[in-house]
Amino acid sequence: MSYDSSNIFARILRGEIPAHRVYEDETALVMMDIFPQSRGHTLVIPKAPSRNLLDADPAALSAVMPLVQRIANALKAATGADGIRLAQFNEAPAGQTVFHLHFHLIPVYEGMALAPHAGGKADDAELAELAKAIAAAL
Ligand code: 5GP
Repeated sequence: MSYDSSNIFARILRGEIPAHRVYEDETALVMMDIFPQSRGHTLVIPKAPSRNLLDADPAALSAVMPLVQRIANALKAATGADGIRLAQFNEAPAGQTVFHLHFHLIPVYEGMALAPHAGGKADDAELAELAKAIAAAL
């Protein structure tokens, strides 16, 4: 299947839809997931168009991984999480719902189960506060 530029993350990257932005540079956007699996669930989105890992340009992958690491550390510091889960889904049977490559960084808190993937919507004010706190920890 080929890349479809009408997907929701492409629209966010074009500024057509708002997002709780944590960080942005010429290669990637980092924002809060609005249906978080835990407090602080963050998405790292390379700007280069690809559906997922399978069709991504290797150069785009190597450019984004240091940022994934940087955000993971800032996220852990800002939320006080006990661990960080990195997740990435490729095609619908594997759990992918938005077809523009992205990396999930999901804080894990000891003794607390994660909410289901793409479940309930988070409070906007809380997401705005988290985005600010993670950005400040970068
Ligand atoms: P996937 O299932 O494709 O790996 O993950 C897509 C993620 O995007 C899900 O975790 C879902 O909660 C999140 N999501 C879906 N729509 C929106 C949106 O409009 N804005 C934001 N910030 N996240 C979204």
